[in-house]
Order: sequence, then C-alpha cells, then structure tokens
Amino acid sequence: MSMFSLPGVHAPHRKNTAGLAPVVMPPPATVTIPAVMHIGRPAKFIVKAGDTVQVGQLIAEADGPISAPIHASVSGTVKKLDTVLLSGGNRAPAVLIASDGEMTVSETVAPPTVTDYASFIEAIRQSGIVGLGGAGFPTAVKLDIKDTTRCDTVLINGAECEPYITSDTRTMIDRAEDLRQGVELLKKYLGTKRVLIGIEKNKPEAIKKMKETFASDGAVSVVSMPSLYPQGGEKVLIYNLTRRIVPEGKLPIDVGVIVINCTTLAEIAAYIRTGMPLVSKCVTFDGSAVAEPKNVLVPIGTSVADLAAFAGGYKCEPKKLLYGGLMMGIALPDATAPVLKNTNAILALDEKDAAPAPETPCLRCGKCVDHCPIHLSPVSIAIAHREGDCARLADLKVNLCMECGCCSYVCPAHRPLVQTNRLSKAMLRAHAAKEQAKEEKKA
Ligand code: SF4
Ligand code: SF4
Repeated sequence: MSMFSLPGVHAPHRKNTAGLAPVVMPPPATVTIPAVMHIGRPAKFIVKAGDTVQVGQLIAEADGPISAPIHASVSGTVKKLDTVLLSGGNRAPAVLIASDGEMTVSETVAPPTVTDYASFIEAIRQSGIVGLGGAGFPTAVKLDIKDTTRCDTVLINGAECEPYITSDTRTMIDRAEDLRQGVELLKKYLGTKRVLIGIEKNKPEAIKKMKETFASDGAVSVVSMPSLYPQGGEKVLIYNLTRRIVPEGKLPIDVGVIVINCTTLAEIAAYIRTGMPLVSKCVTFDGSAVAEPKNVLVPIGTSVADLAAFAGGYKCEPKKLLYGGLMMGIALPDATAPVLKNTNAILALDEKDAAPAPETPCLRCGKCVDHCPIHLSPVSIAIAHREGDCARLADLKVNLCMECGCCSYVCPAHRPLVQTNRLSKAMLRAHAAKEQAKEEKKA
C-alpha cells in the first residue's frame, strides 16, 4: 500500500459561488494592513502617520530573505501605525490608512524589467506575492531554486478541495489568459518542460476552460482529480499527480517538483505585465449565516465587517467567523480582522454550524487512521501527547501532519485531533530547543 493510497474524506462541497464571477468592492473608508501576511519575518513599515499613499506604493519592506514587501491597497492618508489582533490571538504591527476613495495608482507602478531567471525571481520578490492558496510562503523564495534543472515538473494547484471556497475556481475561469502567460513565464525563465494542472472534477467549467486554454500546448496537461478532500494538500497533490513521495524534512523540489497555486501564478503574470503588486484579493464570502454568498475582489486590509456590509450582510447572527474553509479554516477574533494577502475565503457560520459537537471518550474505532491521507495515527499521537512522550511523537511522525482535519472530521467521538497534533508539534519544537540549549551549555 502506498503512502497516500487512502485519500481523505468526502467533505460536503457547498460550492455555492462557483458560478459567480467576483464583484469589485469599492475602497472602504479605512484599511488595516498587517506587517505579517506571509510566513517569515514581518515586513518593516517605511511610512508614518500623515503620509499620503497611492495604490501599489511600497509601504513596508521585506525584512530578510524569508519575508515579503507590502504595498498600499488604497490611496489616501496613513492615520497611524498600530497593531491588529489576528487569528491565534497574536497582535501584529499594522498600518491604518484612511482611503480618499480615488484609488489613484502610484507612479511607481510599472512593469519590471525581466530578462533572465535572476531578474524574474527578483521581480516576484518585489511584487509581494505569497502563496495564495492559504500557505502565505513568499513565492520568490519557493521559486528561487538556484539550479533550474532540479525541477522537471511544475504542478499548478487548482484542486480547491475545501468546502465553500471558489476563488481559485474563478481564477481558472476568469483569468485563463493570466494563467497562460504565467506558464509561458515558467517555461522561459525556469526552463519548465512539463506542467500539470490538477483540478477536482467537481469544477467542470474550470476544467473545460483550462483544457481550451492549453489545448495547443503539448507541455501542459489538465488532470481531473476525484473530489476527495484534501486533494489540494501539497504532498497529496504531488503523489496523486506524479506518484512521487516527499520524504520527511524534504521539500517538493527535492523530488523534482514545484507546486504553485493557480491564483499565485495568475498574480505573477499580472505583475510582470503591469507592475501592479499584490494589493487586492478575490475572497469567497459564504457560510450558513451569510445572506448572499458571493466572490468579492477586495482591497487587502479591508475589515471583515466592511466586506460583509458590501456583500449583503448576514441572514442570522454569525456565531463564528473563519479565515479559509470549513476543514482548515482559522477562527477570527472578531469582524475587525482584515482580509490578508492569503485570505481565500471568509466564512460566517450560524449557531448550528459553529457549535462544537460534544467530545466523548475515544472508541478505538480507527477511523482517524483509516482516513489520514498520509497514514499517520492520530489516536496514538493523542495518547503520546497526553503522556508528554516526545520520543514517541517523533516516532509517530507528527511533524508530517498537514493539519488537513480529515481525522477530526471522521472521528465519531469528536476528539480535537488536529488541535492535539498542532500542540504535539509545538511540544516537539520546545523539546528540540531545550535539547539544543543543553548541548550548547555542555559545549
Ligand atoms: S493526522 Fe494530520 S494529516 Fe492526518 S488526517 Fe489528521 S490532520 Fe490530516
Ligand atoms: S476516530 Fe476518534 S474515536 Fe475513532 S480511534 Fe480515532 S480518536 Fe478514537
């Protein structure tokens, strides 16, 4: 049996907005743009209260190699440098900009000069583009593989397997030309010879559009995948499309593969063509409390409250707000939370959907093991975590867990298995740091 031969769960699709092209939201009165909208070090703000800014203007520089610059998403005046409460209870530095309603584009916005692989990577670095499927990893870092012969296949991730979310689906339907140009850029500057576009088969319109777009391109294949969550998980996608397994502690490029989300690639092409950095995002606004589900093109930093007001509000009081989907979404502290670069959906759930089912003792049914796409044993991890057994947690390879939520979803006892896995990973990190400190002290 291969490592990924059991591919997850049949989660409800609820793709209510798949047929709805995004509507463009006018600038809200204010935006709050955090310095952390990516994996890595927070960007450093270079503006101060009272400064006027225009759309696309650099307002924060990347701080170090794993970071990303940030640009103004509206034109107006910087009101203050502040902090904002993000999911997970962390406060991040943020800038509050009052919009002048004009959306005047900065004169710094101009197509970058790209002549070779190095200037291509540098342009992506300047664009502020990060993994838009949700990961938020700086895209320039991912594509900066130094030796381009290491990559023989690029996988374009159009799986979008989470319930409700359709923003990537709309990219494939509405921005096919951007994707075509993105593939040409990869061929030209990365020397890409083979491209596979993976799309779950519950998105027939997107599959059709991609097949039409790349019909005459022999390097590109559109692969229709089963509608089984989590087909869009990076390691699952790599296995399902190439039958390659990324070993623990290794990256996709170590098995010759780069995975790029379809909206990320479309944004790269748009930036190279126009020079407009990543300042807006298509967000699916849906969930059981939402009155009129839709896709909305939102200036980054728009609050969820402003997005909801524009999008038609709620049909009942939302009891829970999520960044992202039902399976991997992260709860928001409140509706002042801003739309981030990597926000692909805001879900608002009613009382029934928001209420956690009562947790009962483990039944030893093994369903969590059966449904884990990478064959971990969440039930054993939970025991090792309870016992504080770090050696056992390492043996059980909890660090491979991609937090897809399949185990929690199928558990009849409603055990908080994903949360336990997150805590277990943190426990292993703390243990490793402690061991390293001991070694250093000895030395
Ligand atoms: S253990 Fe991790 S990877 Fe496996 S189903 Fe649970 S959350 Fe997903
Ligand atoms: S699915 Fe839930 S009840 Fe069944 S073994 Fe796993 S943790 Fe226990």
